[in-house]
Amino acid sequence: MAPTTWIKNAGCVVAWDEETNGHVYLNDADVVFTGDRIDFVGKGYDGTAEEVIDGHERMVIPGLISLHTHATHITRGKGLNEEIDSKLMFNTTLFEINPLLALEPQYFNASFECAVSELLRSGCTTMVEMTNPYPEWIDNVERSGIRAYLAPHFSSSRYYTPNGHSMCYEWDEAKGRRQFEEALKLIDEIEKRPDGRIRGMVYPAQVDSCTEDLMRDAAAAARERGVPLTTHCAQSVVEFREMMHRHGKTPVEWLHGLGFLGPDVSLGHLLFPDEAPKLHWPTRNDLPILAETGATVAHCPVIQARRGRLLHSIASYKEKGVKVAIGTDTFPHNMIDEIRWATVMCKVATEDTHSITAGDTFHAATVVAAEALGRPDLGRLAIGAKADLVLIDLGHPLMQPARDPLRSLIFSALDAPILRVYVDGRQVVEDGEVTTMDHRAAAARLNEGQQRAIATMPERDWGGRSCDEIFPRCLPTKH
Ligand SMILES: [Zn+2]
Repeated sequence: MAPTTWIKNAGCVVAWDEETNGHVYLNDADVVFTGDRIDFVGKGYDGTAEEVIDGHERMVIPGLISLHTHATHITRGKGLNEEIDSKLMFNTTLFEINPLLALEPQYFNASFECAVSELLRSGCTTMVEMTNPYPEWIDNVERSGIRAYLAPHFSSSRYYTPNGHSMCYEWDEAKGRRQFEEALKLIDEIEKRPDGRIRGMVYPAQVDSCTEDLMRDAAAAARERGVPLTTHCAQSVVEFREMMHRHGKTPVEWLHGLGFLGPDVSLGHLLFPDEAPKLHWPTRNDLPILAETGATVAHCPVIQARRGRLLHSIASYKEKGVKVAIGTDTFPHNMIDEIRWATVMCKVATEDTHSITAGDTFHAATVVAAEALGRPDLGRLAIGAKADLVLIDLGHPLMQPARDPLRSLIFSALDAPILRVYVDGRQVVEDGEVTTMDHRAAAARLNEGQQRAIATMPERDWGGRSCDEIFPRCLPTKH
Protein backbone atom coordinates (compact mmCIF):
# COMPACT_ATOMS: atom_id res chain seq x y z
CA MET A 1 0.00 0.00 0.00
CA ALA A 2 1.19 3.52 -0.79
CA PRO A 3 2.55 5.53 2.15
CA THR A 4 0.58 8.36 3.73
CA THR A 5 2.06 11.85 4.21
CA TRP A 6 0.58 14.23 6.79
CA ILE A 7 1.39 17.94 6.65
CA LYS A 8 0.50 18.68 10.24
CA ASN A 9 -0.88 21.94 11.52
CA ALA A 10 0.11 24.06 8.53
CA GLY A 11 0.12 27.80 9.21
CA CYS A 12 -2.02 28.34 6.12
CA VAL A 13 -3.71 25.99 3.65
CA VAL A 14 -5.33 27.27 0.45
CA ALA A 15 -8.18 24.76 0.52
CA TRP A 16 -11.04 24.13 -1.88
CA ASP A 17 -14.45 25.10 -0.50
CA GLU A 18 -17.33 23.18 -2.10
CA GLU A 19 -19.92 25.61 -0.71
CA THR A 20 -18.52 28.70 -2.38
CA ASN A 21 -16.88 26.83 -5.26
CA GLY A 22 -13.65 28.68 -4.60
CA HIS A 23 -10.34 28.62 -2.76
CA VAL A 24 -10.31 29.69 0.92
CA TYR A 25 -7.61 30.23 3.52
CA LEU A 26 -7.60 27.69 6.35
CA ASN A 27 -5.27 28.48 9.24
CA ASP A 28 -3.67 25.77 11.41
CA ALA A 29 -4.96 22.93 9.24
CA ASP A 30 -3.80 19.51 8.03
CA VAL A 31 -3.29 18.15 4.52
CA VAL A 32 -2.95 14.39 4.18
CA PHE A 33 -2.28 12.37 1.05
CA THR A 34 -1.78 8.69 0.29
CA GLY A 35 -0.04 7.81 -2.96
CA ASP A 36 -1.35 10.15 -5.66
CA ARG A 37 -4.58 11.25 -3.88
CA ILE A 38 -5.49 13.72 -1.16
CA ASP A 39 -7.26 12.04 1.79
CA PHE A 40 -7.89 14.95 4.09
CA VAL A 41 -7.90 18.76 4.07
CA GLY A 42 -9.09 20.51 7.21
CA LYS A 43 -8.57 20.79 10.92
CA GLY A 44 -7.83 17.99 13.38
CA TYR A 45 -6.79 14.94 11.35
CA ASP A 46 -6.89 11.99 13.72
CA GLY A 47 -5.40 9.24 11.56
CA THR A 48 -1.85 8.00 11.21
CA ALA A 49 0.82 8.53 8.55
CA GLU A 50 4.19 7.11 7.54
CA GLU A 51 5.61 10.59 7.11
CA VAL A 52 4.64 13.59 9.23
CA ILE A 53 5.78 17.05 8.11
CA ASP A 54 5.73 19.87 10.64
CA GLY A 55 3.46 22.49 9.04
CA HIS A 56 4.46 25.25 11.43
CA GLU A 57 5.39 28.30 9.29
CA ARG A 58 4.28 26.50 6.14
CA MET A 59 1.67 27.38 3.53
CA VAL A 60 0.23 24.63 1.33
CA ILE A 61 -1.23 25.55 -2.05
CA PRO A 62 -2.50 23.42 -4.94
CA GLY A 63 -0.06 22.90 -7.84
CA LEU A 64 -0.38 25.52 -10.57
CA ILE A 65 -1.28 24.74 -14.19
CA SER A 66 0.40 26.29 -17.22
CA LEU A 67 -2.21 25.93 -19.95
CA HIS A 68 0.15 27.04 -22.72
CA THR A 69 3.85 26.17 -22.78
CA HIS A 70 6.53 25.61 -25.41
CA ALA A 71 9.22 24.01 -23.27
CA THR A 72 11.23 22.24 -25.91
CA HIS A 73 12.08 24.84 -28.51
CA ILE A 74 11.60 28.40 -27.45
CA THR A 75 13.60 28.76 -24.23
CA ARG A 76 16.55 29.25 -26.63
CA GLY A 77 15.62 32.94 -27.20
CA LYS A 78 16.97 34.17 -23.83
CA GLY A 79 19.23 37.18 -24.32
CA LEU A 80 18.07 37.53 -27.92
CA ASN A 81 14.43 38.29 -28.52
CA GLU A 82 13.04 39.57 -25.21
CA GLU A 83 12.69 43.08 -26.62
CA ILE A 84 12.73 42.44 -30.36
CA ASP A 85 9.92 41.68 -32.80
CA SER A 86 9.16 42.51 -36.44
CA LYS A 87 8.09 46.14 -36.56
CA LEU A 88 7.29 45.95 -40.27
CA MET A 89 4.90 43.05 -39.63
CA PHE A 90 3.01 44.83 -36.89
CA ASN A 91 4.86 43.34 -33.96
CA THR A 92 4.68 39.63 -34.56
CA THR A 93 7.75 37.40 -34.21
CA LEU A 94 6.41 34.44 -36.14
CA PHE A 95 7.56 35.18 -39.68
CA GLU A 96 10.96 36.76 -39.23
CA ILE A 97 12.29 36.18 -35.73
CA ASN A 98 11.29 32.65 -34.64
CA PRO A 99 12.88 30.84 -37.63
CA LEU A 100 16.21 32.47 -36.71
CA LEU A 101 16.25 30.86 -33.29
CA ALA A 102 16.06 27.25 -34.50
CA LEU A 103 17.72 24.87 -32.06
CA GLU A 104 19.35 21.71 -33.41
CA PRO A 105 17.54 18.53 -32.26
CA GLN A 106 20.38 17.39 -29.99
CA TYR A 107 19.59 20.39 -27.74
CA PHE A 108 15.83 19.77 -27.40
CA ASN A 109 16.35 17.78 -24.18
CA ALA A 110 18.34 20.61 -22.63
CA SER A 111 15.67 23.18 -23.51
CA PHE A 112 12.96 20.93 -22.09
CA GLU A 113 14.85 20.30 -18.85
CA CYS A 114 15.53 24.02 -18.33
CA ALA A 115 11.92 24.98 -18.94
CA VAL A 116 10.40 22.22 -16.83
CA SER A 117 12.85 22.72 -13.96
CA GLU A 118 11.76 26.34 -13.90
CA LEU A 119 8.07 25.40 -14.01
CA LEU A 120 8.38 22.89 -11.16
CA ARG A 121 10.38 25.17 -8.88
CA SER A 122 7.76 27.88 -9.36
CA GLY A 123 5.03 25.53 -8.13
CA CYS A 124 3.68 24.49 -11.52
CA THR A 125 2.68 20.82 -11.44
CA THR A 126 0.76 20.51 -14.74
CA MET A 127 1.80 21.79 -18.14
CA VAL A 128 0.33 21.79 -21.61
CA GLU A 129 3.45 21.22 -23.71
CA MET A 130 3.02 22.23 -27.36
CA THR A 131 5.87 21.20 -29.61
CA ASN A 132 7.17 19.37 -32.68
CA PRO A 133 7.47 15.80 -31.42
CA TYR A 134 10.96 14.33 -31.04
CA PRO A 135 12.05 10.81 -30.01
CA GLU A 136 12.92 11.48 -26.33
CA TRP A 137 9.86 13.64 -25.64
CA ILE A 138 7.80 11.20 -23.56
CA ASP A 139 10.88 9.92 -21.70
CA ASN A 140 11.81 13.49 -20.83
CA VAL A 141 8.36 14.19 -19.39
CA GLU A 142 8.37 10.88 -17.56
CA ARG A 143 11.74 11.58 -15.93
CA SER A 144 10.92 15.18 -15.01
CA GLY A 145 7.98 14.12 -12.83
CA ILE A 146 5.70 16.91 -14.09
CA ARG A 147 2.10 16.21 -15.09
CA ALA A 148 1.78 16.99 -18.77
CA TYR A 149 -0.65 17.23 -21.63
CA LEU A 150 1.47 16.62 -24.69
CA ALA A 151 0.26 18.51 -27.74
CA PRO A 152 2.17 17.46 -30.87
CA HIS A 153 2.34 20.26 -33.43
CA PHE A 154 0.89 19.93 -36.92
CA SER A 155 0.11 22.57 -39.55
CA SER A 156 -0.54 22.87 -43.28
CA SER A 157 2.00 25.65 -43.81
CA ARG A 158 5.20 27.23 -42.61
CA TYR A 159 5.78 30.93 -41.90
CA TYR A 160 8.62 32.85 -43.59
CA THR A 161 9.50 36.28 -44.93
CA PRO A 162 11.68 37.01 -47.99
CA ASN A 163 12.25 40.66 -47.06
CA GLY A 164 11.29 41.51 -43.47
CA HIS A 165 7.91 42.99 -44.37
CA SER A 166 5.92 40.37 -46.36
CA MET A 167 4.21 37.59 -44.39
CA CYS A 168 4.45 34.39 -46.42
CA TYR A 169 2.94 30.94 -45.95
CA GLU A 170 4.61 27.99 -47.63
CA TRP A 171 1.67 25.59 -47.96
CA ASP A 172 2.20 21.83 -47.90
CA GLU A 173 -1.13 20.26 -47.08
CA ALA A 174 0.12 16.69 -47.53
CA LYS A 175 2.83 17.29 -44.94
CA GLY A 176 0.23 18.75 -42.55
CA ARG A 177 -1.88 15.61 -42.98
CA ARG A 178 1.11 13.36 -42.31
CA GLN A 179 1.99 15.33 -39.17
CA PHE A 180 -1.67 15.11 -38.08
CA GLU A 181 -1.75 11.32 -38.50
CA GLU A 182 1.53 10.98 -36.60
CA ALA A 183 0.24 13.26 -33.85
CA LEU A 184 -2.87 11.11 -33.44
CA LYS A 185 -0.77 7.96 -33.29
CA LEU A 186 1.35 9.50 -30.55
CA ILE A 187 -1.71 10.74 -28.64
CA ASP A 188 -3.32 7.27 -28.81
CA GLU A 189 -0.11 5.76 -27.49
CA ILE A 190 0.09 8.30 -24.65
CA GLU A 191 -3.56 7.82 -23.70
CA LYS A 192 -2.95 4.11 -23.12
CA ARG A 193 -0.41 4.78 -20.37
CA PRO A 194 -1.68 3.29 -17.13
CA ASP A 195 -0.70 6.03 -14.65
CA GLY A 196 -2.47 8.85 -16.56
CA ARG A 197 0.12 11.44 -15.54
CA ILE A 198 0.98 12.09 -19.17
CA ARG A 199 -1.97 12.71 -21.45
CA GLY A 200 -2.52 13.76 -25.04
CA MET A 201 -3.99 16.90 -26.56
CA VAL A 202 -4.82 17.74 -30.18
CA TYR A 203 -2.98 20.83 -31.43
CA PRO A 204 -3.37 22.26 -34.92
CA ALA A 205 -0.73 24.97 -34.58
CA GLN A 206 -2.38 28.25 -35.54
CA VAL A 207 -5.63 29.47 -37.11
CA ASP A 208 -3.79 30.99 -40.08
CA SER A 209 -1.38 28.08 -40.72
CA CYS A 210 -3.94 25.26 -41.03
CA THR A 211 -6.54 24.52 -43.70
CA GLU A 212 -10.23 24.46 -42.92
CA ASP A 213 -10.37 20.67 -43.42
CA LEU A 214 -7.46 20.05 -41.11
CA MET A 215 -9.02 22.21 -38.39
CA ARG A 216 -12.35 20.37 -38.69
CA ASP A 217 -10.71 16.95 -38.62
CA ALA A 218 -8.53 17.95 -35.67
CA ALA A 219 -11.60 18.94 -33.64
CA ALA A 220 -13.38 15.71 -34.60
CA ALA A 221 -10.34 13.59 -33.68
CA ALA A 222 -10.06 15.27 -30.25
CA ARG A 223 -13.75 14.74 -29.49
CA GLU A 224 -13.71 11.15 -30.69
CA ARG A 225 -10.89 10.47 -28.23
CA GLY A 226 -12.19 12.66 -25.41
CA VAL A 227 -8.93 14.62 -25.24
CA PRO A 228 -8.66 18.42 -25.04
CA LEU A 229 -8.00 20.63 -28.06
CA THR A 230 -5.90 23.76 -28.49
CA THR A 231 -4.55 26.19 -31.05
CA HIS A 232 -3.15 29.72 -31.31
CA CYS A 233 -5.85 32.25 -32.15
CA ALA A 234 -6.05 36.05 -32.45
CA GLN A 235 -2.43 36.38 -31.38
CA SER A 236 -1.43 39.25 -33.67
CA VAL A 237 -2.91 42.11 -35.64
CA VAL A 238 -1.58 40.67 -38.91
CA GLU A 239 -3.16 37.28 -38.20
CA PHE A 240 -6.53 38.98 -37.57
CA ARG A 241 -6.22 40.91 -40.85
CA GLU A 242 -5.09 37.81 -42.74
CA MET A 243 -8.13 35.81 -41.59
CA MET A 244 -10.43 38.71 -42.45
CA HIS A 245 -8.77 38.96 -45.87
CA ARG A 246 -9.13 35.22 -46.52
CA HIS A 247 -12.56 34.52 -45.11
CA GLY A 248 -14.31 37.78 -44.23
CA LYS A 249 -14.39 36.48 -40.66
CA THR A 250 -12.44 37.15 -37.48
CA PRO A 251 -10.23 34.25 -36.30
CA VAL A 252 -12.82 33.46 -33.59
CA GLU A 253 -15.78 33.63 -36.03
CA TRP A 254 -13.91 31.36 -38.43
CA LEU A 255 -13.20 28.72 -35.77
CA HIS A 256 -16.79 28.96 -34.56
CA GLY A 257 -18.07 28.40 -38.11
CA LEU A 258 -16.03 25.19 -38.29
CA GLY A 259 -17.56 23.85 -35.07
CA PHE A 260 -14.12 23.97 -33.48
CA LEU A 261 -15.00 25.85 -30.28
CA GLY A 262 -16.29 24.22 -27.10
CA PRO A 263 -15.52 23.83 -23.38
CA ASP A 264 -12.74 21.37 -24.28
CA VAL A 265 -10.85 24.06 -26.22
CA SER A 266 -8.15 26.47 -25.09
CA LEU A 267 -7.02 29.27 -27.36
CA GLY A 268 -3.47 30.60 -27.02
CA HIS A 269 -3.17 34.36 -26.46
CA LEU A 270 -6.47 35.75 -27.86
CA LEU A 271 -5.21 39.31 -27.43
CA PHE A 272 -7.06 40.44 -30.52
CA PRO A 273 -10.77 39.66 -30.44
CA ASP A 274 -12.67 42.09 -32.70
CA GLU A 275 -13.09 44.55 -29.83
CA ALA A 276 -9.34 44.83 -29.01
CA PRO A 277 -8.55 48.57 -28.98
CA LYS A 278 -5.53 48.20 -31.28
CA LEU A 279 -7.70 46.79 -34.10
CA HIS A 280 -10.25 49.61 -34.34
CA TRP A 281 -12.67 47.00 -35.69
CA PRO A 282 -16.40 47.79 -35.70
CA THR A 283 -17.91 44.44 -34.59
CA ARG A 284 -18.24 42.99 -31.07
CA ASN A 285 -18.91 39.32 -31.84
CA ASP A 286 -15.88 37.41 -30.61
CA LEU A 287 -16.14 37.49 -26.82
CA PRO A 288 -19.85 36.55 -26.87
CA ILE A 289 -18.96 33.56 -29.11
CA LEU A 290 -16.28 32.45 -26.65
CA ALA A 291 -18.68 32.84 -23.73
CA GLU A 292 -21.41 30.88 -25.50
CA THR A 293 -19.15 28.01 -26.56
CA GLY A 294 -17.27 27.82 -23.25
CA ALA A 295 -13.77 27.96 -24.79
CA THR A 296 -10.95 29.10 -22.49
CA VAL A 297 -8.32 31.72 -23.29
CA ALA A 298 -4.74 30.70 -22.43
CA HIS A 299 -3.28 34.08 -21.50
CA CYS A 300 0.52 34.44 -21.38
CA PRO A 301 1.04 37.98 -20.09
CA VAL A 302 4.83 38.11 -19.57
CA ILE A 303 5.96 37.66 -23.15
CA GLN A 304 3.19 39.92 -24.41
CA ALA A 305 3.89 42.71 -21.93
CA ARG A 306 7.59 42.57 -22.74
CA ARG A 307 6.71 43.34 -26.35
CA GLY A 308 4.25 46.08 -25.47
CA ARG A 309 1.09 44.01 -25.94
CA LEU A 310 -1.80 43.87 -23.52
CA LEU A 311 -4.94 41.77 -23.13
CA HIS A 312 -7.90 44.19 -22.64
CA SER A 313 -8.60 42.75 -20.08
CA ILE A 314 -9.05 39.60 -17.97
CA ALA A 315 -11.69 41.51 -15.99
CA SER A 316 -13.61 42.53 -19.06
CA TYR A 317 -13.39 39.03 -20.62
CA LYS A 318 -14.67 37.61 -17.34
CA GLU A 319 -17.49 40.14 -17.17
CA LYS A 320 -18.55 38.93 -20.63
CA GLY A 321 -18.48 35.30 -19.49
CA VAL A 322 -15.16 34.33 -21.09
CA LYS A 323 -12.90 32.00 -19.11
CA VAL A 324 -9.23 33.00 -18.89
CA ALA A 325 -6.43 30.72 -17.68
CA ILE A 326 -2.67 31.37 -17.65
CA GLY A 327 0.38 29.93 -19.41
CA THR A 328 4.11 30.67 -19.58
CA ASP A 329 4.47 30.28 -23.37
CA THR A 330 8.17 30.85 -24.20
CA PHE A 331 10.30 31.99 -21.25
CA PRO A 332 10.73 32.52 -18.39
CA HIS A 333 8.64 29.60 -17.13
CA ASN A 334 7.93 31.04 -13.70
CA MET A 335 4.21 30.53 -13.09
CA ILE A 336 4.03 32.79 -10.06
CA ASP A 337 5.66 35.60 -11.99
CA GLU A 338 3.12 34.96 -14.77
CA ILE A 339 0.29 35.27 -12.23
CA ARG A 340 1.79 38.52 -10.96
CA TRP A 341 1.92 39.96 -14.47
CA ALA A 342 -1.59 38.75 -15.32
CA THR A 343 -2.85 40.57 -12.24
CA VAL A 344 -0.86 43.76 -12.74
CA MET A 345 -1.48 44.06 -16.48
CA CYS A 346 -5.23 43.73 -15.94
CA LYS A 347 -5.04 46.64 -13.48
CA VAL A 348 -3.04 48.61 -16.06
CA ALA A 349 -5.44 47.76 -18.91
CA THR A 350 -8.47 48.84 -16.88
CA GLU A 351 -6.64 51.67 -15.06
CA ASP A 352 -8.33 50.31 -11.96
CA THR A 353 -6.63 48.36 -9.19
CA HIS A 354 -10.01 46.93 -8.11
CA SER A 355 -10.66 45.27 -11.47
CA ILE A 356 -8.95 42.05 -10.41
CA THR A 357 -7.34 40.51 -7.32
CA ALA A 358 -4.48 38.07 -6.83
CA GLY A 359 -7.19 35.62 -5.70
CA ASP A 360 -8.85 35.88 -9.13
CA THR A 361 -5.63 35.18 -11.03
CA PHE A 362 -4.73 32.34 -8.66
CA HIS A 363 -8.15 30.87 -9.49
CA ALA A 364 -7.33 31.29 -13.22
CA ALA A 365 -4.00 29.48 -12.83
CA THR A 366 -5.59 26.56 -10.98
CA VAL A 367 -9.27 25.69 -11.40
CA VAL A 368 -10.03 27.55 -14.65
CA ALA A 369 -7.14 25.73 -16.35
CA ALA A 370 -8.20 22.43 -14.77
CA GLU A 371 -11.72 22.88 -16.19
CA ALA A 372 -10.32 23.51 -19.67
CA LEU A 373 -8.55 20.14 -19.36
CA GLY A 374 -11.71 18.48 -18.05
CA ARG A 375 -9.99 17.75 -14.73
CA PRO A 376 -12.00 18.48 -11.58
CA ASP A 377 -9.27 16.58 -9.69
CA LEU A 378 -6.58 19.19 -10.43
CA GLY A 379 -5.92 22.74 -9.26
CA ARG A 380 -7.50 22.33 -5.81
CA LEU A 381 -6.77 20.90 -2.40
CA ALA A 382 -9.80 18.70 -1.79
CA ILE A 383 -10.46 15.11 -0.77
CA GLY A 384 -10.03 12.85 -3.80
CA ALA A 385 -8.07 15.43 -5.80
CA LYS A 386 -4.63 14.57 -7.13
CA ALA A 387 -1.80 15.07 -4.64
CA ASP A 388 -0.25 17.91 -6.69
CA LEU A 389 0.76 20.45 -4.08
CA VAL A 390 3.32 23.04 -3.11
CA LEU A 391 4.85 23.68 0.31
CA ILE A 392 5.89 27.27 0.95
CA ASP A 393 8.01 28.80 3.71
CA LEU A 394 5.65 31.26 5.40
CA GLY A 395 8.49 32.49 7.59
CA HIS A 396 10.66 33.46 4.60
CA PRO A 397 11.55 37.17 4.98
CA LEU A 398 10.08 37.91 1.54
CA MET A 399 6.75 36.40 2.68
CA GLN A 400 6.61 38.46 5.87
CA PRO A 401 4.41 40.09 7.02
CA ALA A 402 2.24 37.24 5.79
CA ARG A 403 -1.20 38.56 6.76
CA ASP A 404 -2.44 37.72 3.25
CA PRO A 405 -0.01 34.99 2.17
CA LEU A 406 -1.09 34.59 -1.47
CA ARG A 407 -0.55 38.31 -1.98
CA SER A 408 2.86 38.04 -0.29
CA LEU A 409 3.73 35.19 -2.64
CA ILE A 410 2.49 36.84 -5.83
CA PHE A 411 3.48 40.47 -5.28
CA SER A 412 6.60 40.12 -3.14
CA ALA A 413 8.23 36.71 -2.87
CA LEU A 414 7.54 34.89 -6.19
CA ASP A 415 9.24 31.45 -6.20
CA ALA A 416 11.85 32.26 -3.50
CA PRO A 417 9.98 30.67 -0.54
CA ILE A 418 8.93 27.47 -2.38
CA LEU A 419 10.38 24.53 -0.47
CA ARG A 420 8.77 21.41 -1.83
CA VAL A 421 6.62 20.44 -4.79
CA TYR A 422 4.70 17.16 -5.17
CA VAL A 423 3.13 15.72 -8.32
CA ASP A 424 0.95 12.62 -7.90
CA GLY A 425 2.27 12.52 -4.34
CA ARG A 426 5.86 12.22 -5.56
CA GLN A 427 8.27 14.91 -4.39
CA VAL A 428 10.01 16.64 -7.32
CA VAL A 429 11.40 19.78 -5.62
CA GLU A 430 13.35 19.95 -2.34
CA ASP A 431 14.52 23.25 -0.82
CA GLY A 432 13.67 25.06 -4.05
CA GLU A 433 15.75 22.72 -6.24
CA VAL A 434 14.40 20.21 -8.73
CA THR A 435 15.37 16.68 -7.72
CA THR A 436 14.51 14.90 -10.96
CA MET A 437 16.79 16.75 -13.39
CA ASP A 438 20.16 18.53 -13.41
CA HIS A 439 19.01 22.08 -14.14
CA ARG A 440 22.50 23.55 -14.17
CA ALA A 441 23.89 20.96 -16.60
CA ALA A 442 20.87 21.41 -18.87
CA ALA A 443 21.42 25.18 -18.87
CA ALA A 444 25.04 24.73 -19.96
CA ARG A 445 23.93 22.50 -22.85
CA LEU A 446 21.22 24.97 -23.83
CA ASN A 447 23.83 27.72 -23.94
CA GLU A 448 25.92 25.61 -26.30
CA GLY A 449 22.86 25.05 -28.52
CA GLN A 450 22.17 28.77 -28.63
CA GLN A 451 25.80 29.51 -29.62
CA ARG A 452 25.44 27.09 -32.55
CA ALA A 453 22.15 28.69 -33.62
CA ILE A 454 23.79 32.13 -33.46
CA ALA A 455 26.70 31.00 -35.66
CA THR A 456 24.36 29.90 -38.46
CA MET A 457 21.84 32.72 -38.09
CA PRO A 458 22.91 34.71 -41.22
CA GLU A 459 22.06 31.62 -43.34
CA ARG A 460 18.50 31.65 -42.04
CA ASP A 461 17.91 35.41 -42.16
CA TRP A 462 16.31 36.93 -45.29
CA GLY A 463 18.98 39.67 -45.32
CA GLY A 464 21.92 37.49 -44.24
CA ARG A 465 22.35 39.68 -41.13
CA SER A 466 24.44 38.67 -38.14
CA CYS A 467 22.98 37.98 -34.71
CA ASP A 468 24.34 41.28 -33.34
CA GLU A 469 22.64 43.21 -36.13
CA ILE A 470 19.26 41.57 -35.54
CA PHE A 471 19.44 41.24 -31.77
CA PRO A 472 21.73 43.96 -30.39
CA ARG A 473 22.51 43.56 -26.67
CA CYS A 474 20.95 46.05 -24.29
CA LEU A 475 24.33 47.65 -23.50
CA PRO A 476 27.22 48.19 -25.90
CA THR A 477 30.28 45.99 -25.26
CA LYS A 478 33.46 47.92 -24.49
CA HIS A 479 36.63 46.22 -25.82
ZN1 LIG B 1 2.30 29.60 -28.07
